[in-house]
Amino acid sequence: MTDDTALRQRMIDTCLRMNSSGLNQGTSGNLSVRSGAGFLITPSSLPYEDMTPEDIVEMGFDGTYAGRRPSSEWRFHRDILKNRPDVDVVLHCHSVYATTLACHHRPIPAFHYMVGIAGGTTIRCADYATFGTQALSDAALRALEGRTACLLGQHGQIALGRTMEKALWLATEVETLSRIYVQALPLGEPPVLDDAEMARVIAQMERMSYGLGPEAEGSNDVARPRGSA
Ligand code: 13P
Ligand code: ZN
Repeated sequence: MTDDTALRQRMIDTCLRMNSSGLNQGTSGNLSVRSGAGFLITPSSLPYEDMTPEDIVEMGFDGTYAGRRPSSEWRFHRDILKNRPDVDVVLHCHSVYATTLACHHRPIPAFHYMVGIAGGTTIRCADYATFGTQALSDAALRALEGRTACLLGQHGQIALGRTMEKALWLATEVETLSRIYVQALPLGEPPVLDDAEMARVIAQMERMSYGLGPEAEGSNDVARPRGSA
């Protein structure tokens, strides 16, 4: 037992939620959390139902690890956590609708204002590269520039966050947007919100800490708490 047992258990719980919600299936997907001088990551190919805190792998940014064999995708987890001080959690899954778009290398345009939740006017799709390779990590990092989510060509999606809850929430939003986009497409390519409107949307999301939960810092332009000036 290590003193980060509770954190390791929360990682397993997050993976179990990822599968029970229908976002992911089987042993696809993986999760990492910044911890100490390195990060914790799910082991490769172990069913989440069978995972115990001891199975979670401790890794350093130099690629060394202790314990089980880490996720085959440790490179993009390592590189994202190393290059993105704004996030502490990396969640990867093969959610069906996001992967459907990724199979066509189709980024998600600003057809709906919620696309702004990933930080930009589009949710990009990273170029295809073999799973587990440095090439995939490099492609993912490029697609995530200025964003907290991306699709992975012919593979799946990645969502980032400060917390596991936030990363899982974002992955679910990306999946919902993908589903709506896939459903909208047979009616014709939907119109997109222009860059000026998306800039307003993103500024509003940042000001209101949109989606971060009711306790997050943020203001609402219209409503104000009773008794406030
Ligand atoms: P791991 O079981 O090695 O984490 O692989 C799952 C996956 O999604 C590879 O991209
Ligand atoms: Zn994968």
